[in-house]
Amino acid sequence: MTVQRFSHARLVLPDRILDSGCIEIENGRITRIEAANDSAEATVDLQGGYLVPGFIDLHVHGGDGADFMDGTEEAFRTVCRAHARHGTTALLATTTVARHEQHLAFLRVCRSLKGQELDGAIIVGAHFYGPYFGREARGCHPAESVREPIPAEYNDYLAFADSLVTATVAPELPGAEAFVRACVARGIRCNAGHSHATFEQVEQAIGWGVRHVDHLFCAMSDRARLRQQQTYPMRGGLLEATLYFDELTTEVIADGKHLAPELLRLAYKIKGADRLALVTDANRALDMPDGEYLFGPREGGELILRRDGVGLMPDGRSLASGVEGLDTAVRTMLAASGASLVEVVRMVSLTPARIAGLQRDRGSIEPGKRADLVHLDEQLRVRQVWIGGRKVV
Ligand SMILES: [Zn+2]
Ligand SMILES: [Zn+2]
Repeated sequence: MTVQRFSHARLVLPDRILDSGCIEIENGRITRIEAANDSAEATVDLQGGYLVPGFIDLHVHGGDGADFMDGTEEAFRTVCRAHARHGTTALLATTTVARHEQHLAFLRVCRSLKGQELDGAIIVGAHFYGPYFGREARGCHPAESVREPIPAEYNDYLAFADSLVTATVAPELPGAEAFVRACVARGIRCNAGHSHATFEQVEQAIGWGVRHVDHLFCAMSDRARLRQQQTYPMRGGLLEATLYFDELTTEVIADGKHLAPELLRLAYKIKGADRLALVTDANRALDMPDGEYLFGPREGGELILRRDGVGLMPDGRSLASGVEGLDTAVRTMLAASGASLVEVVRMVSLTPARIAGLQRDRGSIEPGKRADLVHLDEQLRVRQVWIGGRKVV
């Protein structure tokens, strides 16, 4: 197997930037990082810019016209190719609220493609996201399929435990504790999300094993606070608990549309770069023209609009997931949060890798890890992408 040497770009390492460095790749893995450039031996001369670890998306539904819930291999491949163009080299295929058979169709395809070379981002597994949401906190997901976790149903999903990396549940639902415990027993990580749980309910859920919270600030707490206005004292909900508990990691949709800069600053200040991941929450309208799209499966999905660089409900006001890639998230977070480039890159690489349990092989430019690499120009736009040392963009 040939040895490749990449040089003449600033290397973004987990804790610093190496201005003039060189990395060596063999059999798809990083074997060496050297401080000095040796142009004579460079097989890939990057001619400036930054070399950063491949981005990892914990929460992504679609792109380039396809949604994972379409439930076909072709749809999965299309989404993975689209996100690779934005620097994503590994992702969790994320479900939406849908019917039982649609989840099973999704899980079958996910299992068959997991870990495979796809000419795009590698599917490291599924983020089982919905249908176990709080009805009032469902956002753009269809109301008729939102439901409570019942073993007779979710045991069919847990039969795919080998392909499930994370699962989301609203902790206030009846059956949530048993669902979380069943997931944790099978090595599946649990998130709280689309929930109006109280602070106390979230604290209990941490006891069951919940460790991550989906899209901070979005689809959480508002209803709970309203309901409690009738009495006093004012109570905390999922949002406050996420900020408070160090046991909980979380994520922000850093597309510049979901959250104003002060919320990105707040999330970074409280959670820090090691507990905060950037996600796209992208729907099928990524890299597509403005217009009408279906969020989720082609059959039974919710009608949404792509407009103004984001997904919107037909009312044109409420948000309905993202249409930008993780490259946009990096630029948005850097401009908004006050975090350094090293920290922002960590929020799209090592931090999500740790949250998903992938850090042994992924998430940083370090000897022994996979050569999943992104070459960015000075403006942090994606120039080239390698997955396992193989150039895909
Ligand atoms: Zn959501
Ligand atoms: Zn989502």
